Amino acid sequence: MTTFEHALLGVNGVLACGLHRRFGWKLVALGGVAAIMPDWDGLPMLIDMARFEAGHRVWGHNVLACFLLGGLLGSIDYWFDLSGHLAQRLVAMGPLQELAKHVDLRTHFSQRTWMVWMLVATLAALTQIPADIVVSGGKGLTDWALKPLWPFSAREFVYAMVPWGNVGVTVIFAIAMLLQIKLPDKTQQIAASALFLVALYIVLWATTFNSGHRSATQFSQRNNSPQRPRLIMLNSTPLY
Ligand SMILES: [Zn+2]
Repeated sequence: MTTFEHALLGVNGVLACGLHRRFGWKLVALGGVAAIMPDWDGLPMLIDMARFEAGHRVWGHNVLACFLLGGLLGSIDYWFDLSGHLAQRLVAMGPLQELAKHVDLRTHFSQRTWMVWMLVATLAALTQIPADIVVSGGKGLTDWALKPLWPFSAREFVYAMVPWGNVGVTVIFAIAMLLQIKLPDKTQQIAASALFLVALYIVLWATTFNSGHRSATQFSQRNNSPQRPRLIMLNSTPLY
């Protein structure tokens, strides 16, 4: 999935659960940020491509890393009120000044709310794994398997149903966002509907187009029926 889609998956997950009503916009923001954070393992691209190919979808896209990330991010954001401080700086700028009344710094802290912060950050980070397993590959791209059990196991998982960069999921989330701005009272229902439609879209795309974007090499080796997507689990050699 693209960064935009990951972020809105996290945001709509929090909204669909109705947590914004109890915990406010800061938890929604945390859900969005945590949902994109596992892609930190793509940063080695800035140094050299070999390291990027070895680490992307591995170092950050595994259960252990997501738990560590969720615990760390949730704790730092909660106890240091990162989103509150950042929002305060943003609203100090001219065009956003009218939002200042909605921004307040956290003055009351509780262990239970801290747990909620860590739990939401962890779950949001974990959404990267199934999302990237089903949205993968595409024109000129091979399916890029994940190793969710790394470093304990190098077993790879990929089930490419929609090609990476396909605009369908983005369009659904973008329409949902516009509706949520227009109809703030229906935010939760719109978020839940958007998540349902995204899941439906992915299934419909896969069944309609039969994952025709897949690379021939992967299919010829792993699948007897090249017309249907299937879960690929293999102990393959690392990517170079
Ligand atoms: Zn990812």
